[in-house]
Amino acid sequence: MTTAVFKNCFGCDYKEVTEERRCPQCGKPLQDEKTIRMLGGILSFLGLVLITIMTLVINGISHSTRVVDRPGHYGESARNTPNGTLVYGILIAVLLMGVSTLLTGGTMVVTGRRNLKLLWFMIAFGLVLGGFGYVFSRFIS
Ligand SMILES: [Zn+2]
Repeated sequence: MTTAVFKNCFGCDYKEVTEERRCPQCGKPLQDEKTIRMLGGILSFLGLVLITIMTLVINGISHSTRVVDRPGHYGESARNTPNGTLVYGILIAVLLMGVSTLLTGGTMVVTGRRNLKLLWFMIAFGLVLGGFGYVFSRFIS
């Protein structure tokens, strides 16, 4: 015996309170609130990991830059400065990506629903970031 609960198709975004296990529109398995919350938890966790790593890296770089910028190390300083701003930009962009992932996942955990706008924003942001990183890595090598 199953009871009718809110379900969401990840294939065509069919939403209904139903006992069905498969989407009546496209035949894909329907996801219930529990699954959506669980996926949201995983997303939140990934977002937190991204944020933590980026914060640590940005911290590390700002410390090493301070060392490099000391008088007497001008040779290293000149070598490291030109790309510094760009690297910071990328790191901060990845940090923001982590924040948007955390937001998307957090919303899913709280509401038990997918927020497609947030999800697409997150994916688009990731693609733009990936493209930017690719162009940048080609540019400097
Ligand atoms: Zn469907």
